Amino acid sequence: MQADKILKINHDICLKCGGCIAAYPDIFEFDENQKVLIKKKAQVNPEDLPKVKEICPVAAIIDN
Ligand code: SF4
Repeated sequence: MQADKILKINHDICLKCGGCIAAYPDIFEFDENQKVLIKKKAQVNPEDLPKVKEICPVAAIIDN
């Protein structure tokens, strides 16, 4: 599934730690202001969603 259809970032609590980008560089990236974005056209297997969301220490990766 297209990742940006099912995931989003809660920028109010994101620490900009980069953990999600380090773990899943195919899905997440920083923009020029170190704001985490979900890459356009990134794909994620719905079965992997809990694992992907768990990487964030503050639960800023949430369902879209
Ligand atoms: S792991 Fe969480 S807190 Fe860290 S950059 Fe990603 S979304 Fe933000």
